[in-house]
Amino acid sequence: MKTPETLLITRTIEFSAAHKLFREDLTQEENYALFAKCANPNGHGHNYLLEASFTGPIDARTGMIVHFNELKRMLDEVVHSPLDHKNLNTDVPFLAGILPTSENLVRALWQQICQTIVDKPYRLFRLRLSSSSHHWVELQEGL
Ligand SMILES: [Zn+2]
Repeated sequence: MKTPETLLITRTIEFSAAHKLFREDLTQEENYALFAKCANPNGHGHNYLLEASFTGPIDARTGMIVHFNELKRMLDEVVHSPLDHKNLNTDVPFLAGILPTSENLVRALWQQICQTIVDKPYRLFRLRLSSSSHHWVELQEGL
């Protein structure tokens, strides 16, 4: 049986941000045990890379799902502008009260992007967020 194809269009965006992973109900030693260096008391920075993949019908007039320039403008506004050179624990309203792990960050970004493109013919299919070249977290439609 043939598998239906899924055509994705992906754009990457980079941002640098500070955070601290720390639970107030735990001691510093317990926080280090859970979060390692990410529990450093004064925070630290990461260079994040977000890959955002979208899917949808191909516009018969343009032959595209969406122009890359439209994705760039949207991701600059929704991701880069609110997050770049910010403290994720204190500076970002949509992260208020959220421990800024990569998992929580990618879930919050999923909501922000979906809200922004709700009226568009394309939709968000997958987000992949890395805070180092060695690992990433991934959130995908339907998983
Ligand atoms: Zn960290």
